[in-house]
Amino acid sequence: MAPSDPFALYRKAGQQWLARLWQTRGEPREDETPEDHQLLAAMREHHEFHPLWDRLEQVQGRAPEVGGMNPILHMMIHVTMETQLDTGSPPEVGEALEQMLQAGFTHHRAIHLLATALTQEISTVLSHQQPYDAVRYRSRVQMIGRGVRDPQEFSAAVRRARRNDPCLCGSGRKFKHCCINYLPLDVRPTPWINLLPGGSLYCTPAYAESAADDDPIVCLQNMSAVAAALESWGDLEGAFRAYRYMEDVAKEARPSRTPSGGPLENVLQDIVDFALNHPAFAVNALEASEILLARCSDDDLAIRTTLELDHADLLTYVGRAGEAEVAYARATELAKSDQSTNELQEMVADRWGFWNDEIKPLSGTSHERH
Ligand SMILES: [Zn+2]
Ligand SMILES: [Zn+2]
Repeated sequence: MAPSDPFALYRKAGQQWLARLWQTRGEPREDETPEDHQLLAAMREHHEFHPLWDRLEQVQGRAPEVGGMNPILHMMIHVTMETQLDTGSPPEVGEALEQMLQAGFTHHRAIHLLATALTQEISTVLSHQQPYDAVRYRSRVQMIGRGVRDPQEFSAAVRRARRNDPCLCGSGRKFKHCCINYLPLDVRPTPWINLLPGGSLYCTPAYAESAADDDPIVCLQNMSAVAAALESWGDLEGAFRAYRYMEDVAKEARPSRTPSGGPLENVLQDIVDFALNHPAFAVNALEASEILLARCSDDDLAIRTTLELDHADLLTYVGRAGEAEVAYARATELAKSDQSTNELQEMVADRWGFWNDEIKPLSGTSHERH
C-alpha cells in the first residue's frame, strides 16, 4: 500500500474486521453487533470468496480486488442494504425488495440490483462532490421497483424519454442530469451473477445467466479467479488452498458433458498447472496428475501425451528422476503412435529436452498436503 493512499487505513480496518469475524465464526460471541451478524451472513453467502476470507490476514496491506470487484467493499454494501431493510429506512428499499421477490428474484440478487442505486449515489457524492441526496437515492430505488414490476412498460418509457424530460425516477431533475447514465436497467431476475474474470474458464456467460445463485460451476469459475488473485499477491499457499477448496466444490457438481472432461478434471488440471509454475507444490499435485491420467481415455492422444508430460515434469521437480524418465519415455511412445502429424513428437522432444537441460531435481521438498 502506498503511504500516500488516504483510504488505506479504512480499507485495512474493513479487512481486519472481516478477517476477525471469519476466524471466529461458529464461536459464541457476546459482543456481536447486528452489523457483525449481517456481514458474516453475506460472507457465507458468497461461496466463491471463502478461500479469500481464509487468507485475509495473509493478504493484509493489499487492496483485494478480484476480477474488477472489491469483495470487502461488496460485503460492506451488503451490510448497508440489510441495515436499511432492518430499520425500514428508507422504506422504498423494503417495498422494492418485495416487488423483486414477487418477480422471482432471490434475496441475494435483489440486494445486488438494489445496491446499484446505492453505489450510484456514493459515486455521485464522491466524484461530483455533491451532498448525499436521500430523495435521489429513494427515487432510484423506486425506479428499480417500477422496472421490475413492469419491465415492458418501463423499457418503453426509457425509449420515449428525452434528455430534457423530467427523469423517469421521479426525482424532479431533468433526465440528462439524473439517471440517464444509469440506464438501461437490467431488471430480469437472472442477470446479477458475476462471472469474475481472471481465472480459468469453467462456464460461459450464457450458462451463468441462467444458473442458480449457488451453482457450483459458476462458483468454480469465480473461485479460480480468487485463486489467481491470491497467486498474484504472492500468497501461493492461499492460492493452492483455493484450488483444494475447488476440488471439494467440483465433487459436488454434476459432471458436465464437455469433451475436455468435467469440472473435477478441470480443477485437477488447474492444480497441476499451478504446481508446474510453482515447483514447491509439485509434491501436492502429483496425486491430481495421477487421477487425471487414470481418467483420461486412450483415444485422445494429444491430451494423454500432455498429461504424461505434466506428470513427468512434476516427478522431476520432486526428485523422482527414474520415474520421470519412464514417464517421458511413455509420452514419446504415445506421440509416435500419432501417424497424422509429428507435432506431438516435437512437443515431447521439446519438453523432455528442456527438463533434461535446465531443471535440476529439487531435493528435499517436503511440502505437506493440506
Ligand atoms: Zn453479494
Ligand atoms: Zn433519476
